[in-house]
Amino acid sequence: MEIIDGRLDVAEQHLSENCDERPNDQVDLIVIHCISLPAGHFGGDFIRALFCNQIDHASHTDFDSLRDMRVSSHLLIRRTGQIQQFVPFHQRAWHAGQSSFDGRNNCNDFSLGIELEGTDTGQFNEIQYARLGETCRCLADAYAIPVKNIVGHSDIAPGRKTDPGVGFDWARLHRLMAG
Ligand SMILES: [Zn+2]
Repeated sequence: MEIIDGRLDVAEQHLSENCDERPNDQVDLIVIHCISLPAGHFGGDFIRALFCNQIDHASHTDFDSLRDMRVSSHLLIRRTGQIQQFVPFHQRAWHAGQSSFDGRNNCNDFSLGIELEGTDTGQFNEIQYARLGETCRCLADAYAIPVKNIVGHSDIAPGRKTDPGVGFDWARLHRLMAG
C-alpha cells in the first residue's frame, strides 16, 4: 500500500466535489468514523453516492434528511474490505463538522477522515480491521502522525457524535498498527 499524489494506490477513486484547500499544509490527525445507508444496511452504493452528491433522495425515506448535505471523507472501508477514496489527502474533506482536538478547532483543517461501513452500536469485520490497520500505518508513516492522534469522531465532537461507536476495538487497531 502506498500514497501517490495524495491517493492511496489500492483505493478505488471516486473524486468528490465536497472538499477544498486546507488552510495550511499541516496534517497530523486521523479521524475514524462509521456510516451506513440506509441506517443499519450494508452493501449498497449509497455512501459513495452521498459523498459524490449523487444520492437519489426519493429512493428511501431515510434520505430526505440528507438533502443539501455536502459531506465527504478521504476514505471509506466497506464491509468487504474494499477501500474507496473521495478526496486526495492534501485536500480538506468535510467529515468532522464542529470539532476540537488538543485545543484546536475545525479538525477538517488538519485531519484525514476514514469512514468504516458500520453502525455506532454494531461490530466491524475482521477484514475491515486489517485494511484499517494497514491504511493507518501507511498514513501515519507518510504524515508522521503519532498513534495518540488517531481518534474517533466521538472524541473530537463529544455530545454531538458517537461514531465509530462502542463496538470499535481501539486496542485491536493499535495492535495491528504495531505489528
Ligand atoms: Zn463521523
